[in-house]
Amino acid sequence: MKKIDKPKKPIMYYYVIAMLIVILLNSYVFPRMAKSQIEPIDYGTFLQKLENGEISVVEIKDNQIYLQGKGDSPELFSTGTMDDPQLVDRLYSAGVTFSRVVTDTTPTLGSQIFSWIITIAIFVGIGQLFSRYMQKKMMGGNDVLSFGKSNAKIYVESKTGKTFDDVAGQEEAKEALEEIVDFLHNPTKYKDIGANLPKGALLVGPPGTGKTLLARAVAGEANVPFFSISGSEFVQMFVGMGAAKVRDLFKQAQEKAPCIVFIDEIDTIGKKRDSSGFNSNDEREQTLNQLLTEMDGFDGKEGVVILAATNRPESLDKALLRPGRFDRRIPVDLPDLQGREAILKVHARNVKVEPDLDYNAIARATAGANGAELANMINEAAIRAVKMGRETINQSDLEESVEVVLAGYQRKQAVISTKEKRIIAYHEIGHALVAAKQTDSDPVHKITIIPRTSGALGYTMQVAEQESVLMSKEELFNKIVTITGGRAAEEIVFGSITSGASNDIEQATKIARAMVTRFGMSDTFGMMALETQTNPYLGGDTSLTCSGETSSKVDAEVLAIIKSAHQRARDILNENIDKLRELSNYLLEMETITGAQFMEILNKDN
Ligand code: ADP
Ligand code: MG
Ligand code: ZN
Repeated sequence: MKKIDKPKKPIMYYYVIAMLIVILLNSYVFPRMAKSQIEPIDYGTFLQKLENGEISVVEIKDNQIYLQGKGDSPELFSTGTMDDPQLVDRLYSAGVTFSRVVTDTTPTLGSQIFSWIITIAIFVGIGQLFSRYMQKKMMGGNDVLSFGKSNAKIYVESKTGKTFDDVAGQEEAKEALEEIVDFLHNPTKYKDIGANLPKGALLVGPPGTGKTLLARAVAGEANVPFFSISGSEFVQMFVGMGAAKVRDLFKQAQEKAPCIVFIDEIDTIGKKRDSSGFNSNDEREQTLNQLLTEMDGFDGKEGVVILAATNRPESLDKALLRPGRFDRRIPVDLPDLQGREAILKVHARNVKVEPDLDYNAIARATAGANGAELANMINEAAIRAVKMGRETINQSDLEESVEVVLAGYQRKQAVISTKEKRIIAYHEIGHALVAAKQTDSDPVHKITIIPRTSGALGYTMQVAEQESVLMSKEELFNKIVTITGGRAAEEIVFGSITSGASNDIEQATKIARAMVTRFGMSDTFGMMALETQTNPYLGGDTSLTCSGETSSKVDAEVLAIIKSAHQRARDILNENIDKLRELSNYLLEMETITGAQFMEILNKDN
């Protein structure tokens, strides 16, 4: 990856370096050079020379005596002074010129000014460096002096090296993007007929589903440069910088056309503009306006295609979505069963695996996992294989890595008392037994009571044999029954309840609430919408759209659903209390049992 960013060494550095060199020369090198011409001699030699009449001039300076020999190019000597009262007599009788030079210890005006200049220069230098450092911190590495000309962190790859083969399970998205690839390959075909291709496409979906990957694959397939920038890069400390960056980006892209410009997390700049003064953000709005202008400004025929990704499409400004801008919306959803299997296989290509791995089983055990998690599973499996001293990944590595990614590593040293272990075992079997006894519920894949780093003390992994896009009221209700099965088992067997069901309670409530408020599955409210989902791709938070009075009725309705589900779970467990005990004891002994082992015990006649 190459970063377009001109590193400018501040001129201040050169000043400082030059100054240091001058100071060094002055204080060490020059004096040394001067001194080296003067030959030091001892006092005896000095007197000898004096008597021999070899000396013409003597100068006494501080504690040194400097002498000059006779001749055209006289030699220079120096020696230390001695307590020699006869010195003057000796010099006089030797007939040399002599004098005592008293050095002035008070600094001259010149040297005073010089030292002042140095001091000021040092302070200015430090100040400059410091303010520069502060600016960098505040502005994310941008030079404030180059206003209007941004040093945007634009990443450009001439070859992304990704192709559609690297993206699995997103067939619809790939098909939609195929058109763009074809256009970039051969723009004249479209030009000739006069067609305008979409300038921009918006990839929409939850995190980790391969949006960024798809954008890079489009560039790779089309074999064009890939400009990418994240929305947050535009939002700057100073008003106007973001807009300058947008201008810069489009200018650079147009020079390199045909190419792909990818704006990741576009919601950071593309949020709806609102008039409320409190929330308004001038900088963001200016940036957005600039983006809108640029998108209108350039001609789609030039071969610059803009892709953007977001997981909050509902928050985008309408102006961004109108024809001529991001007029194509390409959903990139969580992978389904086939998709997951395909993603696992794509990533397994890069690692060494045993030949007969069952990816389908893994895909079935990972309902709801995204592409990033699946990729991570393959990697974890490879790491585990290395730890185990194997050279290839086998099925058990994959199975374990699923749990590592979904629930964290095993907490081997977690201290859990025998009594707690028993409660956990009954709780988990409660879930599994209730699930198995309801015809509409999924059979279990695996049950374990090995604690995990995520905090899970045990869990029941359910398997979706067949994934459905629609959930019936019965299926949803059965799901709640299964979720309440854990707590129900605790109640029936131990007569007391624990905090272990907190996650179950949260989940059950969420489903029951959605049934009443969004799916129109309660008799009281029918098809009235009582809640809207604010961001479906990010956890699906909801906000109430009904009055307070209705909302308390909703609560009552939700409570009724959960209560009746709970009762149903208790009934099922009471009917199968022997199996509950048998299975729980088996789990307690084995710690982890598979769905097959579970069914075997369940179906065996006693
Ligand atoms: P997003 O941008 O949607 O949040 P990314 O494209 O960054 O997700 O995906 C992160 C990683 O997950 C990718 O680099 C890739 O390894 C893996 N991944 C995600 N989805 C897929 C997919 N459909 N096929 C193959 N790999 C995928
Ligand atoms: Mg991304
Ligand atoms: Zn539970």
